[in-house]
Amino acid sequence: MSKNLSPKCKQCRREGAKLFLKGDRCFSAKCAIIKKNYPPGMHGAKRQSRPTEFGLQLREKQKAKKVYGILERQFRNYFDKARRQKGDTGEIMRQLLELRFDNAVFKSGLSQSRRQARQLINHGQFLVNRKKVNIASYQLKPKDEISIKPQKAGHKIFTDLEKKLEKKQMPGWLKFDLKNQTIKILNRPAGGEMEQTYNPRLIVEFYSK
Ligand code: SF4
Repeated sequence: MSKNLSPKCKQCRREGAKLFLKGDRCFSAKCAIIKKNYPPGMHGAKRQSRPTEFGLQLREKQKAKKVYGILERQFRNYFDKARRQKGDTGEIMRQLLELRFDNAVFKSGLSQSRRQARQLINHGQFLVNRKKVNIASYQLKPKDEISIKPQKAGHKIFTDLEKKLEKKQMPGWLKFDLKNQTIKILNRPAGGEMEQTYNPRLIVEFYSK
């Protein structure tokens, strides 16, 4: 599968926003958005011209793709799938993105970034409803249960989970059962429980032209 290989911090600087692509570093003073909050490149620090409406919509779409680490065709599929459903297309699209397997692993605190979550999933570290699933884009639904594969529970990333998750703010649609080391999808994510770094309305406007 092709990937976006651009350096992570440059992706944030291009969008002028923290996209949290690098784990702990994103919460430190080393974050490139704190140090160099202007677009990358030779003329990046010069004053930027005011974006057009189209430019704003395009950037919002690019931002969302970078947040979830997916490419255009796959992203467009989420929009098309959302449009076929009844309701607010932007919100449904955001729900579909939030219910990706890699996003749920990241949001649960088991990985530092969605990228790391994808690696763990690809390496078969998790089960969904007790069955092996190694597809990062796997679409979860309410009542699904993610668990750490018993043979992988000794992996250093899964030790001291209680301490690691102490300060983690879990979104309301996920429940981490530390005793059994399982994550349950309680319901479909809604409103403020979902990623707020992009505006789905502008993305819908972009694709609706
Ligand atoms: Fe880099 Fe993370 Fe800061 Fe983005 S939020 S610029 S990935 S450190």
